[in-house]
Amino acid sequence: MRILILSDIHANLVALETVLSTAAGQYDAIWCLGDVVGYGPRPNECAQIIAEKAELCVMGNHDWAALGRPGMDVNDFNPQARQAVLWTRRELTEENRAFLDSLSDQPVQSERAPDILVTHASPREPVWEYILTPSIALENFAVFSEPICLVGHTHKPAVYRWRLHSEADEDDEELYSVATVDYLQPYVGVPVELTTSAQERLILNPGSVGQPRDNDARAAYAILDLDQHTWTYERVAYPIELTQSQMRAERLPKRLVDRLSFGW
Ligand code: ZN
Repeated sequence: MRILILSDIHANLVALETVLSTAAGQYDAIWCLGDVVGYGPRPNECAQIIAEKAELCVMGNHDWAALGRPGMDVNDFNPQARQAVLWTRRELTEENRAFLDSLSDQPVQSERAPDILVTHASPREPVWEYILTPSIALENFAVFSEPICLVGHTHKPAVYRWRLHSEADEDDEELYSVATVDYLQPYVGVPVELTTSAQERLILNPGSVGQPRDNDARAAYAILDLDQHTWTYERVAYPIELTQSQMRAERLPKRLVDRLSFGW
């Protein structure tokens, strides 16, 4: 059983379609880590594809903002993101709004893999927190018990490995446990072995389909192989200028158009 892991599509239909056609035949199901909409020019098409094809999807902060629920303050977003949120709200059809509204804003698990927690941002703050450093990852490992957690939100592919060590106290030589977290740089096409135990757990981020922020403009995704216990992170070039011309036609902010060329 191989799962195509998509995150932070951000209404970039051209990127999404490129990923789906590139990964065709290499997966049996799709999981989506949220932010289906926001920033990009095709929120309805992306929401419809994910509603139809994804076996599991959680709510991202941009999906949440696009719903305009009471208490939602768009001033939490920077000016360009805010403009895109308000545009997305106007564009969404009732059907797609209902789909986004149905997504969980709490971590979820698939029946296929109850040992894998799935959330948009972090186990501690499922919609909002950025896991960008080993120390933030370490704090988050303390608030979930599963061997593996999948997150998106940062738009940067990453592997965080938590390990429990035994260390001797220098004075009384008594053994005590210390948890540490390492950041492992994932390499395109190189499977990461998902070895987990009571002493070793993982947080995995596939990066972003529709708006990468690691200075690589290509769409990012991952294949999670539940039988081989591997995680393979992938990148694929897509016709960025096509998304950019769609954005210009919708008068979305220039800064959001430009950043796609650079991957930030
Ligand atoms: Zn996002």
